[in-house]
Amino acid sequence: MKRKTKLIHGGISEDPATGAVSFPIYQVSTYKQEGVGGHKGFEYSRTGNPTRHALEELIKDIEGGKAGFAFGSGMAAITAVIMLFNSGDHVILTDDVYGGTFRVMTKVLNRFGIDSTFVDTSNLDKIKSEIRPNTKAIYLETPTNPLLKITDIEAVAKLAKEHELLTIVDNTFSTPYWQNPLELGADIVLHSATKYIGGHSDVVAGLVVVNSDKLAEDLHFVQNSTGGVLGPQDSWLLIRGIKTLGIRMEETEANTKAIVEFLQGHDQVKKVFYPGIESHPNHSIAKKQARGFGGMVSFDVGSAENTDRLLSKVKYFTLAESLGAVESLISVPARMTHASIPAERRAELGITDGLVRISVGLEDIEDLIEDLTQALK
Ligand SMILES: *Cc1c(COP(=O)(O)O)cnc(C)c1O
Repeated sequence: MKRKTKLIHGGISEDPATGAVSFPIYQVSTYKQEGVGGHKGFEYSRTGNPTRHALEELIKDIEGGKAGFAFGSGMAAITAVIMLFNSGDHVILTDDVYGGTFRVMTKVLNRFGIDSTFVDTSNLDKIKSEIRPNTKAIYLETPTNPLLKITDIEAVAKLAKEHELLTIVDNTFSTPYWQNPLELGADIVLHSATKYIGGHSDVVAGLVVVNSDKLAEDLHFVQNSTGGVLGPQDSWLLIRGIKTLGIRMEETEANTKAIVEFLQGHDQVKKVFYPGIESHPNHSIAKKQARGFGGMVSFDVGSAENTDRLLSKVKYFTLAESLGAVESLISVPARMTHASIPAERRAELGITDGLVRISVGLEDIEDLIEDLTQALK
Protein backbone atom coordinates (compact mmCIF):
# COMPACT_ATOMS: atom_id res chain seq x y z
CA MET A 1 0.00 0.00 0.00
CA LYS A 2 1.38 3.43 -0.87
CA ARG A 3 1.23 6.28 1.61
CA LYS A 4 -1.98 8.12 0.65
CA THR A 5 -3.80 4.79 0.25
CA LYS A 6 -2.68 3.71 3.71
CA LEU A 7 -4.09 6.90 5.27
CA ILE A 8 -7.49 5.87 3.91
CA HIS A 9 -7.36 2.05 4.00
CA GLY A 10 -4.90 1.41 6.87
CA GLY A 11 -5.94 0.31 10.36
CA ILE A 12 -9.53 -0.92 10.53
CA SER A 13 -11.04 1.04 7.68
CA GLU A 14 -14.64 -0.14 8.07
CA ASP A 15 -16.78 -1.39 10.94
CA PRO A 16 -16.63 -5.22 10.99
CA ALA A 17 -20.03 -5.38 12.72
CA THR A 18 -22.03 -3.33 10.20
CA GLY A 19 -19.81 -2.58 7.20
CA ALA A 20 -20.15 1.17 7.88
CA VAL A 21 -17.49 2.85 5.75
CA SER A 22 -16.97 5.65 8.25
CA PHE A 23 -15.87 3.89 11.43
CA PRO A 24 -18.69 4.47 13.97
CA ILE A 25 -18.35 6.49 17.14
CA TYR A 26 -18.81 3.90 19.89
CA GLN A 27 -20.02 6.29 22.55
CA VAL A 28 -19.90 3.72 25.33
CA SER A 29 -18.10 3.14 28.63
CA THR A 30 -18.74 -0.56 29.33
CA TYR A 31 -19.52 -3.84 27.50
CA LYS A 32 -21.75 -6.81 28.27
CA GLN A 33 -19.94 -9.94 29.42
CA GLU A 34 -21.45 -13.36 28.61
CA GLY A 35 -19.92 -14.76 31.78
CA VAL A 36 -17.25 -13.29 34.07
CA GLY A 37 -14.39 -12.24 31.77
CA GLY A 38 -16.26 -13.49 28.66
CA HIS A 39 -16.19 -10.38 26.47
CA LYS A 40 -15.55 -9.60 22.80
CA GLY A 41 -12.24 -7.79 23.33
CA PHE A 42 -13.61 -4.74 25.12
CA GLU A 43 -14.56 -4.54 28.79
CA TYR A 44 -14.25 -0.90 29.86
CA SER A 45 -13.48 2.13 27.66
CA ARG A 46 -10.47 3.39 29.62
CA THR A 47 -8.82 0.03 28.86
CA GLY A 48 -10.08 -0.04 25.27
CA ASN A 49 -12.81 1.47 23.09
CA PRO A 50 -13.56 0.32 19.51
CA THR A 51 -13.31 3.82 17.95
CA ARG A 52 -10.12 4.62 19.81
CA HIS A 53 -8.82 1.16 18.84
CA ALA A 54 -9.52 1.88 15.15
CA LEU A 55 -7.51 5.11 15.44
CA GLU A 56 -4.69 3.35 17.33
CA GLU A 57 -4.49 0.67 14.62
CA LEU A 58 -4.41 3.37 11.94
CA ILE A 59 -1.58 5.42 13.47
CA LYS A 60 0.32 2.17 14.13
CA ASP A 61 0.08 1.31 10.41
CA ILE A 62 1.05 4.73 9.10
CA GLU A 63 4.06 5.10 11.44
CA GLY A 64 5.06 1.47 10.82
CA GLY A 65 5.22 0.24 14.44
CA LYS A 66 3.95 -2.53 16.74
CA ALA A 67 1.17 -0.70 18.59
CA GLY A 68 -0.53 2.71 18.69
CA PHE A 69 -1.99 4.66 21.62
CA ALA A 70 -4.32 7.65 21.71
CA PHE A 71 -4.34 10.19 24.53
CA GLY A 72 -6.41 13.20 25.50
CA SER A 73 -3.66 15.64 24.42
CA GLY A 74 -0.09 15.71 23.15
CA MET A 75 1.06 16.49 26.70
CA ALA A 76 -0.84 13.48 28.10
CA ALA A 77 0.93 11.33 25.48
CA ILE A 78 4.37 12.76 26.34
CA THR A 79 3.75 12.36 30.09
CA ALA A 80 2.65 8.73 29.65
CA VAL A 81 5.80 7.97 27.65
CA ILE A 82 8.04 9.50 30.32
CA MET A 83 6.16 7.46 32.95
CA LEU A 84 7.80 4.38 31.39
CA PHE A 85 10.84 5.47 33.42
CA ASN A 86 11.51 5.27 37.15
CA SER A 87 12.55 7.63 39.88
CA GLY A 88 16.31 8.15 39.54
CA ASP A 89 16.29 7.82 35.73
CA HIS A 90 17.64 10.52 33.43
CA VAL A 91 16.49 11.67 29.98
CA ILE A 92 18.40 13.81 27.46
CA LEU A 93 16.16 16.13 25.40
CA THR A 94 16.52 18.54 22.49
CA ASP A 95 17.21 22.03 23.88
CA ASP A 96 14.41 23.86 22.07
CA VAL A 97 11.67 21.29 22.69
CA TYR A 98 8.05 22.38 22.80
CA GLY A 99 7.56 24.69 25.82
CA GLY A 100 5.05 22.33 27.44
CA THR A 101 7.54 19.45 27.25
CA PHE A 102 10.20 21.61 28.93
CA ARG A 103 7.67 22.56 31.61
CA VAL A 104 6.43 19.04 32.38
CA MET A 105 10.00 17.71 32.60
CA THR A 106 11.35 20.53 34.80
CA LYS A 107 8.31 21.40 36.94
CA VAL A 108 6.26 18.19 37.26
CA LEU A 109 8.12 14.98 36.42
CA ASN A 110 11.29 16.19 38.18
CA ARG A 111 9.23 16.04 41.40
CA PHE A 112 8.96 12.28 40.87
CA GLY A 113 12.72 11.93 40.52
CA ILE A 114 13.01 11.92 36.71
CA ASP A 115 15.96 14.06 35.79
CA SER A 116 16.43 15.81 32.45
CA THR A 117 19.19 17.55 30.53
CA PHE A 118 18.55 19.75 27.48
CA VAL A 119 21.20 19.78 24.74
CA ASP A 120 21.56 20.76 21.11
CA THR A 121 20.79 17.28 19.74
CA SER A 122 21.90 18.34 16.25
CA ASN A 123 25.41 17.91 17.73
CA LEU A 124 26.14 14.21 18.51
CA ASP A 125 29.18 15.00 20.66
CA LYS A 126 27.05 17.17 22.92
CA ILE A 127 24.61 14.28 23.42
CA LYS A 128 27.48 11.87 24.12
CA SER A 129 28.96 14.12 26.78
CA GLU A 130 25.65 14.14 28.69
CA ILE A 131 25.11 10.36 28.82
CA ARG A 132 25.28 9.20 32.46
CA PRO A 133 25.03 5.73 34.05
CA ASN A 134 21.33 6.43 34.85
CA THR A 135 20.41 7.86 31.40
CA LYS A 136 17.54 5.89 29.87
CA ALA A 137 16.48 7.79 26.75
CA ILE A 138 17.21 10.47 24.18
CA TYR A 139 14.13 12.53 23.34
CA LEU A 140 14.21 14.43 20.07
CA GLU A 141 12.09 16.99 18.39
CA THR A 142 12.97 17.53 14.74
CA PRO A 143 12.30 19.96 13.17
CA THR A 144 12.14 22.05 16.33
CA ASN A 145 9.78 24.78 17.32
CA PRO A 146 10.25 27.65 16.50
CA LEU A 147 13.77 27.64 15.01
CA LEU A 148 13.30 24.59 12.77
CA LYS A 149 16.56 22.97 13.85
CA ILE A 150 17.14 19.45 12.52
CA THR A 151 18.54 16.42 14.32
CA ASP A 152 19.80 13.35 12.46
CA ILE A 153 17.39 10.70 13.81
CA GLU A 154 19.30 7.74 12.39
CA ALA A 155 22.62 8.87 13.89
CA VAL A 156 21.08 9.51 17.31
CA ALA A 157 19.24 6.17 17.29
CA LYS A 158 22.54 4.43 16.52
CA LEU A 159 24.29 6.21 19.40
CA ALA A 160 21.35 5.40 21.69
CA LYS A 161 21.51 1.69 20.82
CA GLU A 162 25.25 1.60 21.61
CA HIS A 163 24.39 2.85 25.11
CA GLU A 164 21.15 0.82 25.45
CA LEU A 165 19.01 3.94 25.53
CA LEU A 166 15.59 4.44 23.98
CA THR A 167 15.15 6.98 21.20
CA ILE A 168 11.90 8.94 21.41
CA VAL A 169 10.87 11.36 18.65
CA ASP A 170 8.19 14.06 18.76
CA ASN A 171 7.13 13.95 15.08
CA THR A 172 4.40 16.62 15.30
CA PHE A 173 5.97 19.06 12.81
CA SER A 174 6.80 16.55 10.06
CA THR A 175 3.78 14.25 10.45
CA PRO A 176 3.92 10.55 9.52
CA TYR A 177 3.25 11.56 5.91
CA TRP A 178 6.71 13.12 5.57
CA GLN A 179 8.82 11.40 8.24
CA ASN A 180 8.75 7.98 9.95
CA PRO A 181 11.24 7.92 12.85
CA LEU A 182 10.69 4.22 13.65
CA GLU A 183 12.02 3.35 10.20
CA LEU A 184 15.12 5.41 11.04
CA GLY A 185 15.77 3.37 14.20
CA ALA A 186 13.74 5.23 16.86
CA ASP A 187 11.82 3.19 19.45
CA ILE A 188 8.92 5.53 20.17
CA VAL A 189 7.30 8.20 17.99
CA LEU A 190 4.70 10.60 19.33
CA HIS A 191 2.50 13.40 18.07
CA SER A 192 0.43 16.28 19.22
CA ALA A 193 -2.45 15.18 16.97
CA THR A 194 -4.02 18.55 17.78
CA LYS A 195 -1.87 19.88 14.93
CA TYR A 196 -1.55 18.41 11.40
CA ILE A 197 -3.08 14.99 12.14
CA GLY A 198 -6.40 16.52 13.25
CA GLY A 199 -5.74 19.39 10.89
CA HIS A 200 -8.87 21.46 11.40
CA SER A 201 -8.35 23.25 14.76
CA ASP A 202 -11.21 21.27 16.30
CA VAL A 203 -9.64 18.60 18.51
CA VAL A 204 -6.93 18.30 21.19
CA ALA A 205 -5.26 14.87 21.16
CA GLY A 206 -1.99 12.95 21.36
CA LEU A 207 -0.76 9.76 19.63
CA VAL A 208 2.12 7.39 20.34
CA VAL A 209 3.50 4.45 18.35
CA VAL A 210 6.09 2.01 19.74
CA ASN A 211 8.32 -0.50 17.94
CA SER A 212 8.30 -3.51 20.31
CA ASP A 213 5.84 -5.79 22.09
CA LYS A 214 7.52 -5.00 25.42
CA LEU A 215 7.08 -1.23 24.97
CA ALA A 216 3.50 -1.84 23.80
CA GLU A 217 2.70 -3.81 26.94
CA ASP A 218 4.40 -1.28 29.23
CA LEU A 219 2.76 1.76 27.62
CA HIS A 220 -0.67 0.15 27.64
CA PHE A 221 -0.16 -0.49 31.35
CA VAL A 222 0.64 3.22 31.90
CA GLN A 223 -2.24 4.35 29.65
CA ASN A 224 -4.75 2.16 31.46
CA SER A 225 -3.36 2.95 34.92
CA THR A 226 -3.15 6.74 34.56
CA GLY A 227 -6.17 7.03 32.27
CA GLY A 228 -5.39 10.01 30.00
CA VAL A 229 -7.24 8.38 27.09
CA LEU A 230 -8.86 10.02 24.07
CA GLY A 231 -12.67 9.86 23.86
CA PRO A 232 -14.52 8.15 20.98
CA GLN A 233 -15.81 11.38 19.37
CA ASP A 234 -12.32 12.89 19.20
CA SER A 235 -10.87 9.57 18.02
CA TRP A 236 -13.33 9.67 15.12
CA LEU A 237 -12.33 13.25 14.27
CA LEU A 238 -8.69 12.14 14.01
CA ILE A 239 -9.56 9.16 11.78
CA ARG A 240 -11.37 11.63 9.52
CA GLY A 241 -8.48 14.11 9.63
CA ILE A 242 -5.92 11.43 8.74
CA LYS A 243 -7.77 10.53 5.50
CA THR A 244 -6.76 13.91 4.00
CA LEU A 245 -3.36 14.24 5.71
CA GLY A 246 -1.51 13.43 2.48
CA ILE A 247 -3.20 15.97 0.25
CA ARG A 248 -3.10 18.59 3.00
CA MET A 249 0.65 18.12 3.49
CA GLU A 250 1.35 18.22 -0.27
CA GLU A 251 -0.63 21.45 -0.65
CA THR A 252 0.93 23.03 2.43
CA GLU A 253 4.40 22.15 1.09
CA ALA A 254 3.74 23.97 -2.18
CA ASN A 255 2.33 27.06 -0.43
CA THR A 256 5.21 27.12 2.05
CA LYS A 257 7.85 26.93 -0.67
CA ALA A 258 6.38 30.02 -2.32
CA ILE A 259 6.15 31.93 0.97
CA VAL A 260 9.74 31.10 1.92
CA GLU A 261 10.95 32.43 -1.45
CA PHE A 262 8.90 35.60 -0.92
CA LEU A 263 10.23 36.15 2.63
CA GLN A 264 13.84 35.55 1.58
CA GLY A 265 13.56 38.32 -0.98
CA HIS A 266 11.91 40.84 1.39
CA ASP A 267 14.00 43.69 2.83
CA GLN A 268 12.02 43.88 6.12
CA VAL A 269 12.86 40.26 6.88
CA LYS A 270 16.25 39.79 8.60
CA LYS A 271 16.36 36.01 8.58
CA VAL A 272 14.19 33.07 7.50
CA PHE A 273 14.27 29.72 9.32
CA TYR A 274 13.13 26.76 7.20
CA PRO A 275 14.79 23.35 6.68
CA GLY A 276 13.98 23.45 2.95
CA ILE A 277 16.40 26.37 2.42
CA GLU A 278 19.71 25.09 1.04
CA SER A 279 21.74 27.28 3.41
CA HIS A 280 19.94 25.82 6.46
CA PRO A 281 22.77 24.20 8.50
CA ASN A 282 21.16 20.74 8.34
CA HIS A 283 19.32 20.96 5.03
CA SER A 284 20.95 17.75 3.75
CA ILE A 285 19.89 15.78 6.84
CA ALA A 286 16.33 17.10 6.55
CA LYS A 287 16.33 15.97 2.93
CA LYS A 288 17.72 12.55 3.80
CA GLN A 289 15.29 11.69 6.61
CA ALA A 290 12.06 13.39 5.53
CA ARG A 291 10.13 13.43 2.25
CA GLY A 292 8.95 17.02 2.80
CA PHE A 293 10.04 20.05 4.81
CA GLY A 294 6.65 20.94 6.27
CA GLY A 295 4.56 24.06 6.64
CA MET A 296 6.25 25.79 9.57
CA VAL A 297 8.39 28.85 8.90
CA SER A 298 9.90 31.36 11.31
CA PHE A 299 11.33 34.73 10.36
CA ASP A 300 12.84 37.67 12.16
CA VAL A 301 11.45 41.15 11.60
CA GLY A 302 13.91 42.81 13.99
CA SER A 303 11.89 43.95 17.00
CA ALA A 304 8.78 43.46 19.13
CA GLU A 305 7.35 46.69 17.63
CA ASN A 306 7.74 45.35 14.12
CA THR A 307 6.04 42.09 15.07
CA ASP A 308 3.12 44.01 16.60
CA ARG A 309 2.77 46.13 13.45
CA LEU A 310 2.77 43.01 11.29
CA LEU A 311 0.22 41.25 13.52
CA SER A 312 -2.14 44.22 13.45
CA LYS A 313 -2.24 44.17 9.63
CA VAL A 314 -2.48 40.51 8.58
CA LYS A 315 -5.92 39.37 7.38
CA TYR A 316 -5.62 35.68 6.57
CA PHE A 317 -2.95 34.74 9.11
CA THR A 318 -4.88 34.30 12.35
CA LEU A 319 -3.03 35.28 15.52
CA ALA A 320 -3.25 32.10 17.59
CA GLU A 321 -1.26 29.43 19.37
CA SER A 322 -1.13 26.03 17.68
CA LEU A 323 -0.30 25.06 14.10
CA GLY A 324 -0.94 22.58 11.36
CA ALA A 325 -4.52 23.44 10.47
CA VAL A 326 -6.26 24.33 7.21
CA GLU A 327 -6.17 28.04 8.13
CA SER A 328 -2.85 29.91 8.22
CA LEU A 329 -1.80 30.92 11.72
CA ILE A 330 0.76 33.42 12.99
CA SER A 331 2.37 33.68 16.40
CA VAL A 332 5.15 35.35 18.34
CA PRO A 333 6.98 32.52 20.14
CA ALA A 334 8.71 34.72 22.77
CA ARG A 335 5.39 36.01 24.06
CA MET A 336 3.14 33.02 23.26
CA THR A 337 4.17 29.36 22.85
CA HIS A 338 7.55 29.89 24.54
CA ALA A 339 6.48 32.36 27.25
CA SER A 340 6.78 29.56 29.85
CA ILE A 341 10.52 29.35 29.08
CA PRO A 342 12.52 31.86 31.20
CA ALA A 343 13.65 34.96 29.23
CA GLU A 344 17.29 34.16 29.86
CA ARG A 345 16.93 30.69 28.32
CA ARG A 346 14.96 32.09 25.39
CA ALA A 347 17.85 34.44 24.64
CA GLU A 348 20.32 31.52 24.80
CA LEU A 349 18.19 29.60 22.32
CA GLY A 350 17.88 32.53 19.90
CA ILE A 351 14.15 33.06 20.32
CA THR A 352 14.22 36.83 19.84
CA ASP A 353 11.40 39.37 20.33
CA GLY A 354 11.32 39.95 16.57
CA LEU A 355 10.79 36.29 15.75
CA VAL A 356 7.49 35.50 14.05
CA ARG A 357 6.31 31.95 13.38
CA ILE A 358 3.77 31.06 10.74
CA SER A 359 1.89 27.85 10.07
CA VAL A 360 1.06 27.92 6.39
CA GLY A 361 -2.50 26.81 5.65
CA LEU A 362 -4.40 25.81 2.55
CA GLU A 363 -5.67 29.19 1.33
CA ASP A 364 -4.81 30.29 -2.23
CA ILE A 365 -1.14 31.21 -2.32
CA GLU A 366 -1.87 34.50 -4.14
CA ASP A 367 -3.99 35.65 -1.18
CA LEU A 368 -1.36 34.62 1.37
CA ILE A 369 1.48 36.43 -0.44
CA GLU A 370 -0.67 39.52 -1.00
CA ASP A 371 -1.54 39.53 2.71
CA LEU A 372 2.11 39.30 3.81
CA THR A 373 3.10 41.94 1.24
CA GLN A 374 0.67 44.54 2.59
CA ALA A 375 1.37 43.64 6.24
CA LEU A 376 5.16 43.95 5.85
CA LYS A 377 4.94 47.31 4.09
C1 LIG B 1 1.40 21.31 20.59
C2 LIG B 1 2.61 20.47 20.76
C3 LIG B 1 2.74 19.58 21.83
C4 LIG B 1 1.69 19.46 22.90
O1 LIG B 1 0.50 18.93 22.42
P1 LIG B 1 -0.98 19.29 22.97
O2 LIG B 1 -1.87 18.55 22.07
O3 LIG B 1 -1.12 20.79 22.90
O4 LIG B 1 -1.01 18.83 24.40
C5 LIG B 1 3.87 18.79 21.88
N1 LIG B 1 4.84 18.88 20.95
C6 LIG B 1 4.77 19.75 19.93
C7 LIG B 1 5.87 19.80 18.92
C8 LIG B 1 3.65 20.57 19.79
O5 LIG B 1 3.59 21.43 18.76
